[in-house]
Amino acid sequence: MKGLIMDYPLTTNTILEYGNSVYHHKKIITHLPDGIRHEYSFGDMYKRCKKLANALTQKLGITNGDMVGTFAWNHGPHVELYYGISGIGAVCHTINIRLSANQIEYIINNSEDKVIFVDATLVPLLEKIAPLLETVEYYILINAADDFITTLPNTLHYEDLIRDQSEDFEWPELNENDASGLCYTSGTTGLPKGVLYSHRSTFLHATTIMSPNAGNFSNRDTVLLIVPQFHVMAWGFPYLCLLSGSNMVLPSSNLQPEAIIKILIEEKVNKANGVPTIWLGVYHALKMNPPKEKLALEEYLVGGSALTKSLIEGFEKDFGIKGVQAWGMTETSPLGTVSRLQPLHDCLSEDAKLTIRAKQGTAFPGVELRIVTDDGNLAPTDGKTMGELQIKGAWTITSYFKTNNNENFTKDGWFKTGDVSTIDQDGYMEIKDRTKDLIKSGGEWISSVALESALMAHPKIKEAAVIAIPDEKWVEKPLASIVLMNNEDVVSEEELIDFLSREFVKYQIPKDYVYMNEVPKTSVGKFDKKEIRKLFAEGKLT
Ligand code: ADP
Repeated sequence: MKGLIMDYPLTTNTILEYGNSVYHHKKIITHLPDGIRHEYSFGDMYKRCKKLANALTQKLGITNGDMVGTFAWNHGPHVELYYGISGIGAVCHTINIRLSANQIEYIINNSEDKVIFVDATLVPLLEKIAPLLETVEYYILINAADDFITTLPNTLHYEDLIRDQSEDFEWPELNENDASGLCYTSGTTGLPKGVLYSHRSTFLHATTIMSPNAGNFSNRDTVLLIVPQFHVMAWGFPYLCLLSGSNMVLPSSNLQPEAIIKILIEEKVNKANGVPTIWLGVYHALKMNPPKEKLALEEYLVGGSALTKSLIEGFEKDFGIKGVQAWGMTETSPLGTVSRLQPLHDCLSEDAKLTIRAKQGTAFPGVELRIVTDDGNLAPTDGKTMGELQIKGAWTITSYFKTNNNENFTKDGWFKTGDVSTIDQDGYMEIKDRTKDLIKSGGEWISSVALESALMAHPKIKEAAVIAIPDEKWVEKPLASIVLMNNEDVVSEEELIDFLSREFVKYQIPKDYVYMNEVPKTSVGKFDKKEIRKLFAEGKLT
């Protein structure tokens, strides 16, 4: 029997309309480069979304299902693009500015973006590949001076695009299962893979993340969105802030620790998100230069890489600020778990409580987790048995965009995360290792396999295996173990760095190299990364 309840669409328009009707007075504050501060209300933003919707449909010819790219930092216009593009039934494709030129070119051609909205400061990155982009009809410049010069074809300034548009626009009726956003995730080998979010998944993810046992956001909060809008929809924060009525503070490219601290103080920010590298930097900067008054910051939500016990402890002891660990993936919208203490933990020692908070945490309502061991069995929830973490839920991917590749999906409908984890008797998941051949440095992926192929293309290199090693600032960094063709050859680290810089961006290039006679191999002849990691841990790699 069908329930007798309205079929009310859970769309980004529903979020926008709600934010405008209940919280039109709430603020969106952007800190642009050069110390420029911009403030406006949710109500003002709403009106500009409607102008944008008119411009997209009437001036740029965008229709339902079209792809529209953004190549931009966190700021007001980028929030307008999130809502304006999805609101007319098009797909907001946020392009990660930190990927290599080759990957960006592939992503734009693969998604078939018709228009790209690009920050003036990021234009040089697109200029290099623009002649190779097959589908882009217009480039819209954001925050560009009137006399801005570019070689990009068919450019318009964002403000000129929307200036004369009407503030009246009737959102089309959208199906909540239609696509609203697209993000690419960099794969182990080969090409980046697209994850296509739906309106419904976006809505459900945002409402769940704002709830008290999860992110805990309300209309009393002022939230700094450090996670870039070009990376997994800024963890859904531009959506949840409108639903929860939290003021939104956007740092654009001001991501240095000192700049973040300045914004935290000036805007009296009490909640924030970000990867561990950012918070480690902020912590050290605060230690070096303790603030005169206690910061308003109460809590920072961390994900992307592991938030360590020592950072949680340091922040809390020294500054009374609480770190909350979350885990997720592009494929899971992204948030899947969060680690918060419960009353059942009240009796534990402080150290035992910290141990729990340093786990990746319990699943959000609407998400299920399981661990599958190497022999294909379900692991017991004993906090000890390791296996691959698998997930399913209302905002978990069912397949990648434009591929039939189903190797990451099980026959019974779960997504294989590539993380190796345990789950304890209270449902707290802990990541122990990773099966995917990737290194996560400062919150961004580096493909070890891509580095290995590039290194092995060097005429003097026979074999190259790249592993992740711990790094205090970046959490992980790549280490390349090299076998030379000829033992008498000399290849300097500078030469290798220079060689790799033709293909890789700076943060992806290993600064650490070790030379060996042979790379350890598994029984089937693959590089045995476990063994290399072991040698490194034992100090046997020099
Ligand atoms: P994001 O960087 O937004 O989390 P990605 O899809 O790029 O999304 O990366 C997802 C992967 O990052 C996870 O599969 C896991 O390996 C790692 N990861 C995410 N959050 C954590 C965390 N809290 N602790 C350890 N690793 C994490």
